[in-house]
Amino acid sequence: MTDSFLKKVADKVYQLGDPYYQTYLVRGEKCALVETGLSYTVPKVVTRLAELGISPEEVRYLVITHAHFDHVCGAPGLQKAFPEAQTLASAIAARVVNKENVVANHFKEDRETVNNLIARGLLPDYDTSFQPPATVRVDRIMNEGDVIDLGDDCTLAFYMTPGHSPCSMSIYLAEEEVLFPSDCLGYPFSNMDIFTMYLSSYRDYLDSIRKVSGLDTSVLALPHAPAILEKGKVRDFMRHSLEMAQEVHNHIIRSFRNGRSFEDLSLELFKRYYKENWAVQSEENMRICTDLVVRRSLEAENITFSK
Ligand SMILES: [Zn+2]
Repeated sequence: MTDSFLKKVADKVYQLGDPYYQTYLVRGEKCALVETGLSYTVPKVVTRLAELGISPEEVRYLVITHAHFDHVCGAPGLQKAFPEAQTLASAIAARVVNKENVVANHFKEDRETVNNLIARGLLPDYDTSFQPPATVRVDRIMNEGDVIDLGDDCTLAFYMTPGHSPCSMSIYLAEEEVLFPSDCLGYPFSNMDIFTMYLSSYRDYLDSIRKVSGLDTSVLALPHAPAILEKGKVRDFMRHSLEMAQEVHNHIIRSFRNGRSFEDLSLELFKRYYKENWAVQSEENMRICTDLVVRRSLEAENITFSK
């Protein structure tokens, strides 16, 4: 892809991705990669690290922020490229990526996304011989409050931020006030709309947004968009993310009580959010996501429904 996003977003943090998916390098005495991306992002990350003069042995940690396909499928390739690296994930994420049926489906989605990128004229050099593994290795379980010291005044603190998924973590580099929220703040579109993604629990999603909003953040290292680089803008984004979640939830509840069907509401969300760079994921996957948002809203209000 020509539009490389290699960019220094803080003194010790580099954004290595493209307009679709980010991996972030945190460079202390040891290096960590936060977000493992998709299969196609691996060669890009390897090349960028080489450009930065980082040897493969310096990469000591790979962080799987949660167990969705677009945050997992790059892990096997990165593990191969960086053999000294330990792969970190939450306990729930580790269990999920150890299931063969889940991982098989993840790589199917990975391939569909790759095909959509190819259809957009991107990825001319994707290695189509790529063979996905049966499961994805995790070496170390991270719990709330765990800290990884990379040396050179560089520590990564781990926070459990469920709601998008039960297994979601956010990572905070206190020395530089950089937050890696993964998907816990939703997906931003160009018109300021945000795809609010409470796929596992509406209440947990709100709690997680409030939790990360309490961290002093100057750089918001988003996984699907360029990092936000200014404290005021980060604060605005977090506030907006919370408001959008509440707005969507209230709309679903109001509309359902007024007689709109589950399917109709899910389709409305699909049409609103399946666009721009987000639409490189499969329609099927997106329909699952919008169904889940409607479901979690209704569950949060103890409303019975059939679906
Ligand atoms: Zn996700």
